[in-house]
Amino acid sequence: MKYVIIGAGVAGLAAIEAIRSVDQAGEITMVSDDPHGYYSRPGLAYYLTGELHDKALYPRTQDDYKKLNFKYLKGRVTQILRSEHVLEMDGKSRLTYDKLLIAVGARALPLEVPGAKLDGVVKLDHLTDAKNILKLAKRGKTAVVVGGGITALELTEGLLARGMTVHYLLRGDRYWSNVLDKHESLVVEGRLQAEGVTLHHHAELVEISGRNGRVNGVRFLDGRKMKCDLVAYAIGIKPCLELVQNTDLALDRGILVNEHLQTNDPDIFAAGDVAQAYDPLSGRSVLDSLWNPARDQGHVAGLNMAGRKTGYLKSPPFNVTRLAGLTTTIIGAVGRGHDEDVIGIARGDSETWRDLPDAIVAQSGFDINHMRLLIGEKKLIGAVLMGDQTLSWPLEKMIAGGANISPIREKLMMPEAPIADLIADFWVVWREEAAL
Ligand SMILES: Cc1cc2nc3c(=O)[nH]c(=O)nc-3n(C[C@H](O)[C@H](O)[C@H](O)COP(=O)(O)OP(=O)(O)OC[C@H]3O[C@@H](n4cnc5c(N)ncnc54)[C@H](O)[C@@H]3O)c2cc1C
Repeated sequence: MKYVIIGAGVAGLAAIEAIRSVDQAGEITMVSDDPHGYYSRPGLAYYLTGELHDKALYPRTQDDYKKLNFKYLKGRVTQILRSEHVLEMDGKSRLTYDKLLIAVGARALPLEVPGAKLDGVVKLDHLTDAKNILKLAKRGKTAVVVGGGITALELTEGLLARGMTVHYLLRGDRYWSNVLDKHESLVVEGRLQAEGVTLHHHAELVEISGRNGRVNGVRFLDGRKMKCDLVAYAIGIKPCLELVQNTDLALDRGILVNEHLQTNDPDIFAAGDVAQAYDPLSGRSVLDSLWNPARDQGHVAGLNMAGRKTGYLKSPPFNVTRLAGLTTTIIGAVGRGHDEDVIGIARGDSETWRDLPDAIVAQSGFDINHMRLLIGEKKLIGAVLMGDQTLSWPLEKMIAGGANISPIREKLMMPEAPIADLIADFWVVWREEAAL
């Protein structure tokens, strides 16, 4: 059996591990156009701030790869010829497959304003981007950040840590308005300001000016101008679909896959940021840009490529991240509507987070230790925890496990309810019943 994996991200690697757990003899080839191979993409934020050395971004050793016994090809797949089971590489060489995994990820949506191609306009998709940012980020110079979600903050904090003066432009009136509530947005904004970031609300970038091909300023929609040396953007991402555009594979916002991560071609699978998988919580097929779902999908796809019939059961999306230095966990459905700063989804984000059905909100803590619960008829639908993370793991398990919270529902909804204590006590009992 000849397996080919396009993409050296977490989904691609998890697929290889899964294939090898079932099939020791098959021939596996991984193809990637990233010169740096497999590394932690979420780790790029910490590389930018200087908290991680680039060597720490590589979770696997050469020995690990040897044990998996696969061939690694550097290059770009430019075409999939389905009827022949052939891939074209860089329009030159060809590669045949019996089972194919498309795990090509997503990429940043381009900034479409005059001047966006100038030297000094940056994004954060790959390690190459991060290295480019570090080369351009000069102490004492000025940066402008546009966009929203987690990556915009990672850019802001990275540039700040490198000694730049940072201006963060928001089109709307608060940060990440369709995932965070007003209090949570204000906590994040307050911390950014305390770190020295200048926030500009209702500010839309319409032009980037330059001199000798390099950024030297920006112009806002209201006519204001500002001098700057670098513009960083994170206005959303889009699954990389060019490769499958003329293949008749079923597409929506990503590549549509069934519960086996199989496309409408039984020999082609898709996983990770490029795949749009069924979400039992919302009853829709959704996009995630999250490390764990990409790994889990890659794993299930690999097993099924090797002949198993394993179903992928998507759990409520979960992310522990850092927003302006504050550890924040987001689980399940927590918001809805449109955020003016992001088109579609961003990195470290899930469409499910913004798919909130009717729910009642219970919250506690109005400083940095804050918890917000979204309560359905009998179950918890979602949660946001900022600061104190003691209940983050229990809440993830209870939301994913569909815990029936009827015994404490009324109490959770009472004014001034001690919701952390109620959840902690309930968890002890539920955990035992669920045998966790
Ligand atoms: C800055 C940043 C911060 C993030 N923060 C978080 C976070 O806080 N929490 C979280 O859970 N997730 C986060 N993520 C998202 C997470 O990293 C992704 O969801 C995950 O890496 C997706 O894995 P993947 O395997 O689907 O794709 P990727 O890791 O994007 O890998 C895609 C691979 O395909 C290759 N490729 C693409 N096209 C071709 C082609 N035509 N031919 C050959 N190779 C090709 C690429 O070179 C790459 O190797 C973050 C990502 C970034 C970039």
